[in-house]
Amino acid sequence: MRFFSYIGAIAVALSLSACADESPSNEAVSADALALQAHLEFLASDDLEGRDTGSRGHEIAAKYIAAKFKSLGLEPAGDDGTYFQRIKFRRSFLEENSASFTLNTGEDEISLDYPKEFITGPSAYSEEDDVEAPLVFVGYGLVSEAFGINDYEGLDVEGKIVVMVSGRPEELPSEEGAHLNSSKTKFAAERGAVGIINLHTPAREKVRPFEVSVMYQRAPSVRWLHPNGEPNVAFKNIAASAYVQHEAAEKLFVNAPVQLEEIFAQLEAGESPKGFDLGVSARLQRASRHEEISSPNVAAVLPGSDDKLKNEYVLYTAHSDHIGMTKDLSQDDHINNGAMDNASGVSVMLETARMFKESGQQPKRSIMFLSITAEERGLLGADYFAHHPTVPLSQIVANVNLDMPVLLYDFADVIAFGSTHSTLGDTVARAAGQLGIDLSEDPMPEQAIFTRSDHYPFVKKGVPAVFLMTGFTSKTEGEDGGEVWGEFFAEHYHRPSDQPDLPINYEAGVTFTNINFAIGQEIANQVERPRWLPESFFSQLD
Ligand SMILES: [Zn+2]
Repeated sequence: MRFFSYIGAIAVALSLSACADESPSNEAVSADALALQAHLEFLASDDLEGRDTGSRGHEIAAKYIAAKFKSLGLEPAGDDGTYFQRIKFRRSFLEENSASFTLNTGEDEISLDYPKEFITGPSAYSEEDDVEAPLVFVGYGLVSEAFGINDYEGLDVEGKIVVMVSGRPEELPSEEGAHLNSSKTKFAAERGAVGIINLHTPAREKVRPFEVSVMYQRAPSVRWLHPNGEPNVAFKNIAASAYVQHEAAEKLFVNAPVQLEEIFAQLEAGESPKGFDLGVSARLQRASRHEEISSPNVAAVLPGSDDKLKNEYVLYTAHSDHIGMTKDLSQDDHINNGAMDNASGVSVMLETARMFKESGQQPKRSIMFLSITAEERGLLGADYFAHHPTVPLSQIVANVNLDMPVLLYDFADVIAFGSTHSTLGDTVARAAGQLGIDLSEDPMPEQAIFTRSDHYPFVKKGVPAVFLMTGFTSKTEGEDGGEVWGEFFAEHYHRPSDQPDLPINYEAGVTFTNINFAIGQEIANQVERPRWLPESFFSQLD
């Protein structure tokens, strides 16, 4: 059994980094279990009604966080000298019975049945879409120089609708594959396509049946708006989209040189199908309705002490929003409190801010604390900040993200997503080591978690990032950390039971906070800013 007194360990850590500067007040700095509990119980209380983006409950959460920043004496870093960066969002709904998909084979006109044979989402850009164009099959629709992939090679898709199979080749590493997968629209748009049709596959059907997608497609899509009111729709030339059921998809291949059955067989065999003209055209129509809401990020800065380095920032992020109320009326409790997701991360960030403020040792670089909205809607608040930062993005040297630390057991190790991509990996290992905590490898690489939280929009803009989660081992005899974590995920994640009456281990929260504090402290005080490792795929994103 490994047992470290965290206060002792922090004192050692500080005495190492403090060197000549001997201020005795440093030694006692540690997160406080009661403070973590107080923050969490407020943020995850029923009164905040699940903190949905744009809701009153989330506004109250944001005000609470701003009040805490203010009481710590942190400087406002939002808009116009306030702590708030208010963001406008557009919610888009598909108008009932407006979606149609007509195929023209040259001989016949065939209508696909909505939503049995195809589904489509609303447009965030226009209220009416009507696109008619030839179809071109483009395999997976991927392009990557690093992996020697160009599914568009030899194909002219200018003014055409591209048809692609969903997913990606199995041989791609999970994080890189997930990134490329999320760039498919970009690849199509850059080549002048006017629409995208995704094909459901038999393999996908086994994991997530088409009917499940049909069930979820009624949810509105949410996009953030630029300050000038323009929606953040990067590729306006893509004015049509559809997701086609795998059997119905055969109709698109009646004139094709290769039949769909063979394409699916190639996928099954682990091959990437080649593209070709489908020899048919399609007309896709839909109508969309738009609504506007607004919701704030909350930002504060602790200025650095070094004349030069204070213009650089270590950015802590934690999302304050959650998924609001459940529509499942079969349950008594309708409030998704989001205690672990992510009242816990915000609580850790607030305690981290207090520790920096009260450590008696001002960091050389400035520290920014950013509580983020609309994470649950697709990392939107983080994406907005990455596009409209309140300090120059090039001066943000690293992002330490806090999202859903599962503080339900006495964890003995941490997993640090992003640690293999930059010099932050060494920083995390040192910080955790000082507290007697191991750094473990990602136990679920297939989940590509590195691309699934608020640090990712910053990564895409070139900011090295790291995101810790509690590992799967425990310091307590007989406790299986992986089992507790898995049980949380299976039974409470995104459900009303993710609430403060879970058996929360606030002492584990103290350790988790102390590690994240130590990470930021090292980044803030080291001479060089963190760097991407040259061999990392994410070092070369444009
Ligand atoms: Zn969540």
